[in-house]
Amino acid sequence: MTEELQTPRRTILYIEDDAASRQLVLRTLHHVGYNVLVAERGLDGIDLARQTLPDLILTDIDLPDLNGREIATTLRSDARFYDTPIVALTASDRHDERELAMAAGINGYLTKPVNIEELQIHIEHYLSGGQDEIDPERLDLARERYLEEVVVRLEKRIRQLEETNKALYRLDEMKDTFIQLTAHELRTPLTLVYGYTRLLEDHPPLRDMMTQDTGIATLITGLTESIGRMHAVIDEILTMSRIMTNRIDMTIKPTNLGALVRKVLIGFDNAIRDRNLTVHFDQAEWPISMRADDDLLRIAVTNLVSNAIKYTPDEGHIYLRAEMDGQHVMFTVKDTGIGIDVAEHEKIFERFHTLNDVSLHTTSKTAFNGGGIGLGLPICRGIISAHGGRIRVESPGRDREKCPGSEFVVILPLITKAQSVPKRIKL
Ligand code: ADP
Repeated sequence: MTEELQTPRRTILYIEDDAASRQLVLRTLHHVGYNVLVAERGLDGIDLARQTLPDLILTDIDLPDLNGREIATTLRSDARFYDTPIVALTASDRHDERELAMAAGINGYLTKPVNIEELQIHIEHYLSGGQDEIDPERLDLARERYLEEVVVRLEKRIRQLEETNKALYRLDEMKDTFIQLTAHELRTPLTLVYGYTRLLEDHPPLRDMMTQDTGIATLITGLTESIGRMHAVIDEILTMSRIMTNRIDMTIKPTNLGALVRKVLIGFDNAIRDRNLTVHFDQAEWPISMRADDDLLRIAVTNLVSNAIKYTPDEGHIYLRAEMDGQHVMFTVKDTGIGIDVAEHEKIFERFHTLNDVSLHTTSKTAFNGGGIGLGLPICRGIISAHGGRIRVESPGRDREKCPGSEFVVILPLITKAQSVPKRIKL
């Protein structure tokens, strides 16, 4: 205790994958007054060492990722660790283990099982500059062997990574196919169910019942709307999966972007009214004669407007503006909604990336913070890139109280030339 007060506690980083050894050494060193940090894997150990700059590093040799020697070599290449004692503590019984360890930049070598009484003495020895002795000739030979060992391990690791990468790629393809097949399989019966509910709604006896009994009217309308929403979600997944698997051909034709945006806004009339939102849109600013795929642009604009509605609280404002130079139109969809963190500005364009809490998920296209499946923006980017354009977002951050707003900026060529169009859309 007195000793602890006199000398500042020194920090030892212990890298060890075996839980029992970790506990034993941690307790022992802690008991005699050291500050002990532990890491279970080599890479975690290196990260922790860089963050905390310990006074001494004690490491096992056989670890699941980088071994103790590679940890030492990596740290020694960083000027902050030139003089840090690095000590191996290992059960390895390889005859040349000590020489290899020294060749890799390790100062001392202790063997397991840990001798608790002696551990502190050894640690103090290394902390005060002590170093294991080794014959220089043997050290030179060990360096060569170590170099060969590292190269062989590196090649093995690269091969493993390539295999893993291939497996992930295959899995990703399987996932795409699965999504596509599932969406297809669901869409056919759902289209029928959707059709039947619409027929039901229009069926004269039922219409009479609906006018007489508001309860029945609510049930039937709820049913139709819910199925309509399911239909839209499946359509969204199908469009996305076609885009992902490059199966959408573009049809370039004369396109009136202003009229297209107006139609999209009309589609959201009810939601805009219900949510008391104000939309600022002047069709005169927008190009009337572009050459583009208007079906695809409609999907992109619909997604942007739907998001602006979803992520803006009631009474908010949505601004749709356009500017043109001779060759491009730059249009923006800006809202007074909750905004998007700067760190998320790129990620939101990745498939299935949604910032909402998935456990509170709803698929409403217009309810405040309704959330979706995270496909809208990747679809937009896919469509806009296929036209030779760009899309980005600007927003100071996400704040549900202050609502700093978001602005999606799209730049599109006024004329998407048929020959400049990639044959298929690619994300
Ligand atoms: P989703 O179906 O989840 O809406 P999107 O791809 O359209 O998927 O959007 C991805 C995420 O980006 C959303 O979950 C949301 O968090 C965020 N986001 C998109 N548009 C806006 C916006 N106008 N305001 C705030 N956040 C937005």
